[in-house]
Order: sequence, then structure tokens, then C-alpha cells
Amino acid sequence: MRSTGKLHLGNYVGALQNWVRMQDEYECFFMVADWHALTTDYADTSRIKENSLEVTLDWLAAGLDPEKSVIFIQSHVPAHAELHLLLSMITPLGWVERVPSYKEQQENIKGKDLTTYGFLGYPVLMSSDIMVYKANAVPVGEDQVAHVELTREIVRRFNGFYGKSGDVFPEPAALLTPAAKLPGTDGRKMSKSYGNTVMLTDPEPVVRQKLKTMVTDPARVRRSDPGNPDVCPVGDLHKIFSDKATMAKVNEGCRSAGIGCIECKGWVADALVKLLNPMQERRKKFEENPRLAWDILEAGTERARKAAGETMDDVRAAMGMSLGYEGPK
Ligand code: SF4
Repeated sequence: MRSTGKLHLGNYVGALQNWVRMQDEYECFFMVADWHALTTDYADTSRIKENSLEVTLDWLAAGLDPEKSVIFIQSHVPAHAELHLLLSMITPLGWVERVPSYKEQQENIKGKDLTTYGFLGYPVLMSSDIMVYKANAVPVGEDQVAHVELTREIVRRFNGFYGKSGDVFPEPAALLTPAAKLPGTDGRKMSKSYGNTVMLTDPEPVVRQKLKTMVTDPARVRRSDPGNPDVCPVGDLHKIFSDKATMAKVNEGCRSAGIGCIECKGWVADALVKLLNPMQERRKKFEENPRLAWDILEAGTERARKAAGETMDDVRAAMGMSLGYEGPK
């Protein structure tokens, strides 16, 4: 996850919630991708360290557990850069140019010059992030599948060139996160750049206030008009966060105009507050003593360096670039 600062509910539903579960099933590496943040936000790095910490605090608050998983910062594991360089030697330009998000982001992100070498190469950096741990699987959303596919192609090419005595890298599978549609308060996809988020750190009154202003089914103009939760962004939130009994009340009450939107929004707010409260409690412990979070990051970074270092030994050996005399005695 890029180090973009505090996380919102969309980040939680789209990735984090799934990661917390995965910890019991897989040996996981969770990376604060601060180099990736640089691919678009390179001009001003004044908040990058603070943003890395904020992401980490939200991870810990949501339940990522350093006892189970490796939690680390990308820029402190230089093997990512070394492998990126080697992979960039073998990756045809056409492969990175056709990654869908490349053109899309160049068109969508205004006010930044993205015609940089680093931005073009970021999918290769992602491949390096995956391959340097010889990952078998990567949890991704639909929009990231192309990146995993590119990684698989790079793996095949690398193994084809250098895997004379066996494959160096496994081909990673994309573990698709069930894509729940999470609208922001204006009904568009929840995103920091739209200013429509509910943050994991929002206190209860802020959550309730944001929900109050959320857009609803446009056909329900008056309290007496029946509505349809299937076309209402608040209805979408209910589907994700509310229990069955509440969902039934919403379905019935909305369609018969038996409930008002204010009441309905209050129920979503209740569910969100119930979800966020324990996270915010956990976060408080680390906010009051950020040293604890930094200790976790330092220990995780150490573990990541060791694992990545072992991969790089294999890479150098496979490419015939190990250090030291290898001739006859
Ligand atoms: S009652 Fe709820 S689901 Fe129906 S339109 Fe209002 S906010 Fe949306």
C-alpha cells in the first residue's frame, strides 16, 4: 500500500480487511510502499515519513499483527531497487507501456508531470516487490490484476533466461479481493482525491455528520416517496456493514416509505461506529507512543531485508554474477 497517510473505509474494505484475515492462512509481507508514492509525488517529500507512519498506525489499528506478519517500509530494503534494476534490463518497453493504469493515470492525475522514467517503470518496481520475496500470491483488487499478470510474464522471461538449473522465481497468483462497491459520501467511489471519504480515524460525531450529508436515491425527494436501496449509496453501505435484521428493515422501510433517510443513515452510522471504535482504541496506544510502531517497522524491515537478501543471492548465482573466485582450486 502506498504511503499516502491516514486510510479511509475504502482502503479497509478494498484491502486491509482481507489482509487481516489472510494472516492466519499465509506467511504475509505487508509493505508501506514509499518509493511508489514517489512515482507521482516526487516533488515534495516533506510528509512522506509521517505518511508511512500513519499508514502503519491504521494497519495496526485494523489488526495487522507483527507477531504473524512482516510489516516493513519499502525504501529500507534496498534489494527491491537492485532487483528492479535487473528486471528493467529484461522487460520490453511495450510491456510497461500497455499496463492500463499507465495511460489512465497520466490522463487523470492533473498538475503533475508524469512523463518520468520512474513512473513508466513503476509496474516493474511492483514486480520486484513481489518477486524479491518469491511470493506465490498477491492479494489485489480487479484493477491490479494487470500488474500481477505483468509480473508473471517477467518471471517467465527471467526463468527462461537464467533458470538453467531450475526456476528462480515462482509465478505469483492474483488473490482477488471480493470487490465490494464502496461509495463515498457523494455517491462516487470513495477516494481521497474526491474529498468524499470516511476515515478510519474519524471520531463518532464526524462519522455521523458525514453520513447525514450523504447522497441518497435521487428518486426519493420527499419523505413520502418510496425509494430503492439498490440504487442508493447509503443502501450500498448497509449491504457491506449492516447485519441481516437491519438490512431487512432498510429494504422494507425504504421501498414502502416507512422510514426516513435520516433514520436509515443513522443505522449505517451505528454500524460504522461499532466497527471503528475498537480500531481507534488500538490506534490510540500507538499514537501515544509512536516509538512502539517504529520498533515494529524496524524489526519487520530487518526480517524483510533478510528474506530479500536470500533471494538476491539466488538471483546473482543464477545470472552468474556472484562475488568471489569460482575457478579451479
Ligand atoms: S431510506 Fe435509506 S436506502 Fe432508502 S433512499 Fe433513504 S438512505 Fe437510501
